[in-house]
Amino acid sequence: MSFLTRADRITIAHVCQDWATAYAAAPVNLPKSLTVRYLTDHHLRALSARHGREMISRAVASHLDAHPKDLTAPRVSHRERRTRQAERDATAARYLKYAYHHYAAAEPYEALALIDRAELASPTYKDFSQYRRAIQKRMRPFAGTDLTRTSLRHRALLPLANPHPGPPVMHHGSHTQEWVYPGRLVIEGNWPAAIPEHCTATDEGLTDWIANRTVLVCTGCGLDCT
Ligand SMILES: [Zn+2]
Repeated sequence: MSFLTRADRITIAHVCQDWATAYAAAPVNLPKSLTVRYLTDHHLRALSARHGREMISRAVASHLDAHPKDLTAPRVSHRERRTRQAERDATAARYLKYAYHHYAAAEPYEALALIDRAELASPTYKDFSQYRRAIQKRMRPFAGTDLTRTSLRHRALLPLANPHPGPPVMHHGSHTQEWVYPGRLVIEGNWPAAIPEHCTATDEGLTDWIANRTVLVCTGCGLDCT
């Protein structure tokens, strides 16, 4: 099962903002269902190829439900569309420039955070994963928290019931999908979420120091955040 990333959702939002009125506004005046079909088939082909047409079509429809103004606004001109995209790309380029400064200064966390921001500003601007790979290649391997003087144990493997992503932890939070340093582990316990990828506690930042303040865990899923 695939899932939409935050960048995917923003791509959908941008397409709706820029193109929905081309179909829904006068003089075309197509109903919402046809507008959804055209947006999916003509403007979101890459996402449909990755996630399936059905999933993207549903995501477009629910985005328009939540943002009805995208359908009822005055028709967006070609020039306006180009201006909007140029502004998004310029924002992303700015973040990438700062990301590079941090990369050059051996500050991988800052660089990765800025690459995330660049991608969210303009998801279609570049292949952002190549930048992330370049940074991750230069990062030192993760040293897990030392648990020898505690009663805690790291879970060796995460539950592998399909279609859950298995180890390593791919991201933290079912909605927020926060980036997780490669190699981070989960503390064994009865956490509300079986795996960090399903955690719903990230929004509130619910973490707790346990075992005499040796380990900082996410209380939603047991992810060792020390
Ligand atoms: Zn969590």
